[in-house]
Amino acid sequence: KIKTRFAPSPTGNLHIGSIRTALYSWLFARHNNGKFILRIEDTDLERSQQVSVDSIFNGLKWLGLNWDEGPYFQSQRLDRYKKVINNMIDKGDAYKCFCSSEKLEEIRKNQIQKGFKPRYPGICRNLKYKNIFNQDYVIRFKNPSTGKVVFNDKIRGNIVFDNKELDDLIIQRSNGMPTYNFCAVIDDLDMQITHVIRGEDHINNTPRQINIMKSLGAEIPIYAHLSMILDEDKHKISKRKNALSITEYYKKGFLPEALLNYIVRLGWSYGDKEIFSVLEMQELFSLKSISKSSSIISTKKLLWLNKYYINNLSVSYICNLLKIYMIEENIIISNGPNLELLFKLLRNRYHTLKEIAKSCRYFYEEFNDFNKQAAERYLLINNFSILDKLYKKIKNLIVWNHYAISEVINNLSEDTLVNIKEINMILRVAITGNVCSPSISSVIDLVGRKKTLLRIKKAMD
Ligand code: GLU
Repeated sequence: KIKTRFAPSPTGNLHIGSIRTALYSWLFARHNNGKFILRIEDTDLERSQQVSVDSIFNGLKWLGLNWDEGPYFQSQRLDRYKKVINNMIDKGDAYKCFCSSEKLEEIRKNQIQKGFKPRYPGICRNLKYKNIFNQDYVIRFKNPSTGKVVFNDKIRGNIVFDNKELDDLIIQRSNGMPTYNFCAVIDDLDMQITHVIRGEDHINNTPRQINIMKSLGAEIPIYAHLSMILDEDKHKISKRKNALSITEYYKKGFLPEALLNYIVRLGWSYGDKEIFSVLEMQELFSLKSISKSSSIISTKKLLWLNKYYINNLSVSYICNLLKIYMIEENIIISNGPNLELLFKLLRNRYHTLKEIAKSCRYFYEEFNDFNKQAAERYLLINNFSILDKLYKKIKNLIVWNHYAISEVINNLSEDTLVNIKEINMILRVAITGNVCSPSISSVIDLVGRKKTLLRIKKAMD
C-alpha cells in the first residue's frame, strides 16, 4: 500500500515550492488509493516557529490537501530517536565525536587549501574514550567508507554516489538534539513511507539517508526529487519571499482551485491540457509525467486561471468567498443589491476576488468625490439638460429592468441627437463616479431607482 508524506520544517512561510511538494505527494497517494501523512520536522529549535506551523495547517486545509495520519511532530518523538541512536552506538554503527569546532575548522581549512573537498576525516571513529572530563560531543553515523550508493530516482533515473564522497554524518548535535537527516530516516521507516517525494535540494541527503536505513536493515523507499521552481527572473524562489507565501495568495483573492491548478502545472503535464479540477488531477497524476527541468513562475497564468475559476465555479460558492473580501473592505453587504446578481455583472471583468471587492463600493455607498478628469470631461453644464431628461424618464419608468433603462437611453439619444456612447458616459460618471463600469443600464438596474435619482441630482450640483 502506497504511503507518502509531506514533511515541512516550520521555519518560514508555506510557499509555492513546498505546496507543490505537498500537492504531488498528496495526488500520488490519492491516485493510488494510498495514504498521505503530515509530519512537522521541528528539531531545529532555534528556527522552528509556531506561526509557521499554523501557516502549514491553515494552508493545507484551505487547499483541501487533507492528511490521513498526523500531524506528527518530530519534537515529540525524541525518545524514539534516542533509543535508536543508543542501539546504533552499541552495534558500532554510530560513535561519539569529541572534536571541537575549532579543530574541525582547522582541518577544513587545511583540506580546502590542499584542494580537497572538506570532510570529517573520522578521527573519533574508532576511539575508545571514556568521557571523564564531561566534554561536549556530537554523535556521528559510521558511513561505509567503500562502495557506492545507488538509487533509482523516479524523475531523474539512476543516481550513484561514491561512499568515499560522504563523510560521517552528525546524527545528534552537542545539545542532544537529533538532526534532520537522522529523524527523517527514522520517521520514514516508522511511518512506513513507500515514496519520498521532495525537492531536488535534498538529493545530496538521499545517499546518506539510504546508508543509515541500510545500517538499520530497513527497506529503502522509492525517491522522486522535484526540480526547482524559478521566479520570473529565473532565480531560485525562497521561503523568505513573502509574495509567494500561501497567505499572500489568499489575501490577494486567489481561489484554492486556481492555485492548485497553477501549482500542479509547475513541473507536471498531461498533454496540452491546462484546466484541471482536483478530481481530474487525482485521476491523471503520475510521477512519470513530472518534468526534469525547472519550472518558471508566471503570475499572468495564475491570474488567468483565477479568472477562469471565478467565472466557472458555482456562483453561490464564489459569492460566499467574495463576502469575506467585501467585509474586509468594510462594505456593508446588506446596503446593496442581491450579491449574486452583482457578482454576475462583475465577474468577467476582474482576476481576483479582492479586485471585485475593491471595485463594487459604489453599489453600496454614496460617494462624494467624482474622478476629477471624468467629471471635467462629462459633468459639464452643457450636459445637465441630458441628465435632467434622464432623471425624469428614469423616475417615471414603470418596469424596472436593464432593458427598460437602456431603452430610455436609446430614446433620449434619438430625441437629442447626442451619441449613445456619450450619454452612457455622462450617466456612468454620475452614477459610479468614474469612467469604468459594466453596462450602465445594468449598473443602474442594480443600484436601484432611488439611489440613481439621488446621484443624478448630485451630479448636477
Ligand atoms: N523538512 C524538510 C524541508 O522542509 C523536508 C524533508 C524531506 O522531505 O525529507 O525541506
